[in-house]
Amino acid sequence: MRVESLELKQYRNIAQLELACPEELHLFVGPNAQGKTNILESFYVLALGKSHRTRSHKELIRFGEHRATLKAKVKKDEQLLRLEVQLSEKGKKVSRNGVEQPKLSRYIGSLPAVLFAPEDLAIVKGSPQIRRRFLDMEIGQVSPAYVHNLTQLGKLLSQRNSLLKQLAQKRVYQSELLEVLDDQLIQLSVHIWKKRYRFLDSLSEWAKKIHWAITQDKEELAVEYLPSVAISPRMEDGDLAESLRGELKRLREKELMRGTTLIGPHRDDLRLLANGLDLHTFGSQGQQRTAALSLKLAEIELIYQETGHYPILLLDDVLSELDDSRKTHLLEAIRGRVQTFVTTTGLDGIDAETLTRARIYQVRQGT
Ligand code: ATP
Ligand code: MG
Repeated sequence: MRVESLELKQYRNIAQLELACPEELHLFVGPNAQGKTNILESFYVLALGKSHRTRSHKELIRFGEHRATLKAKVKKDEQLLRLEVQLSEKGKKVSRNGVEQPKLSRYIGSLPAVLFAPEDLAIVKGSPQIRRRFLDMEIGQVSPAYVHNLTQLGKLLSQRNSLLKQLAQKRVYQSELLEVLDDQLIQLSVHIWKKRYRFLDSLSEWAKKIHWAITQDKEELAVEYLPSVAISPRMEDGDLAESLRGELKRLREKELMRGTTLIGPHRDDLRLLANGLDLHTFGSQGQQRTAALSLKLAEIELIYQETGHYPILLLDDVLSELDDSRKTHLLEAIRGRVQTFVTTTGLDGIDAETLTRARIYQVRQGT
């Protein structure tokens, strides 16, 4: 997968930009607040139809203007795709090869992309909720069925939680409806757990290899699933179901008291370890960033496995906190497969060989 060219009009602080992207590696260099992230974000918007920084597409239109246009020519196998996103006060339109796509879900996938932004450090540093969201987003990219199951789970949990509250008010401890909802919860949870375990199996293998390469064989990364119920990856469906059923029974009174579902896939977490040390608690900033990065880069391989196409890689400001060795080996680890766009405030510490194969753009005040 290659982006051949990018064209922006009235997008963020960029009045107009035409960019040919002939190389595998592109570096956008410049001081703060010049438009580097804006350019990277525009690739993301063309890929996913929305920004990673805001839900409001109006924020993307240049101040004082009424419409923004983003276009890219993308090479997929030997096919040339023309992607276009039009943003106006009225709304957003996406089109492929000149044909407007009424459904965003039909448009997405034309240009698979993996983005790593400074906020992604939270995958290691942040709350369990952020790690679950990471996992769900990643699996969702390759499995629409999983997204469907998650949506079902969300609906079911709000139904179950309000029932728990009602029962507690009436001081009723048995309910047929609750039994029915529990059966549904168990069924959905088993699906979600199996998918997560299977996905994590390959994700952690790839992440480990990549981490090993970036740290030059110094750190062994491990990704562990921390379930809220006593389950393990090798359990059969029936055992997974029985574990959850047993725990739900045991926790019935507590759940009624709290009015909420205390266990299940929505309460699970991930643990990231480097050489056996929990990075959430003991990792240095650089170690945490490297681990988050390795997880994201592993996703590239999974997308390739599932779709047969390598996504483009967008790296926003990741180089700043990595030492020179990690910088070099990061850029080396992705070499040869993935077209990569990187923003950075300076080129210090990037080795000369990498610089000669990269196309380097200076970004100043949106140009
Ligand atoms: P840093 O190195 O600090 O990350 P950057 O080069 O990545 O800087 P950007 O995030 O791309 O900077 O933002 C550049 C500028 O774009 C910001 O100063 C911001 O005020 C401006 N900007 C953001 N949205 C709009 C908009 N809709 N219209 C005009 N300018 C905007
Ligand atoms: Mg930036």
